[in-house]
Amino acid sequence: MNKKKLAQFHSQLESIRSELMGGVEKSNLGVKENEVGQVADISDDAARTYNRQLEGELEEQEWKKLKQVDNAIEKINTGEYGICTQCETTIPEARLEVVPYTEFCTQCLSEMEKNPKATTITEKNPFEEN
Ligand SMILES: [Zn+2]
Repeated sequence: MNKKKLAQFHSQLESIRSELMGGVEKSNLGVKENEVGQVADISDDAARTYNRQLEGELEEQEWKKLKQVDNAIEKINTGEYGICTQCETTIPEARLEVVPYTEFCTQCLSEMEKNPKATTITEKNPFEEN
């Protein structure tokens, strides 16, 4: 991958990262927004109340995504960006353009989808036992 392309992915990742950080920070601080919030319209507040119900789940997803983004940035720094973590083949740039923080090539990903238990790191649902 050429440097220009790499720099492009890097800035893309950075912007995704700061977006995620903003979201995570907000939910951690318990939404304090007196200074800036005055300007926000009312619908934003309504949406927030609604979103709060989903927050727990969303937060976890955001953390996961944030971690992936961090990994990807790290890989750019070490020169390993765009290489599948699983099989170590080069991930097509077209795919990276869609999901710049992806860790896996499409083939590995589809295999994981077929067999999710093999890759999920023992996050077993305790209620699942029958
Ligand atoms: Zn792969």
